[in-house]
Amino acid sequence: MLSQGPQVKPQVAVDEEAPMDLSCPICNADVPLTGDEKVGDEVYCSFCRAPLAVLEGKEEDELMLEDDF
Ligand SMILES: [Zn+2]
Repeated sequence: MLSQGPQVKPQVAVDEEAPMDLSCPICNADVPLTGDEKVGDEVYCSFCRAPLAVLEGKEEDELMLEDDF
């Protein structure tokens, strides 16, 4: 017989505050973000210096970059 104790699922701690790195759509280099970027902001690729517009990603709280020449 299996014991029928309470099923405790381990909670995996996810650090949602961790800044993410996005890829430059032009040169594919990683563009480090501070985490303070908002939709509509402009960031610069540290590799090719292209101005990139911060856009809303597919998921909530997800960001993506688009070239903003
Ligand atoms: Zn780039």
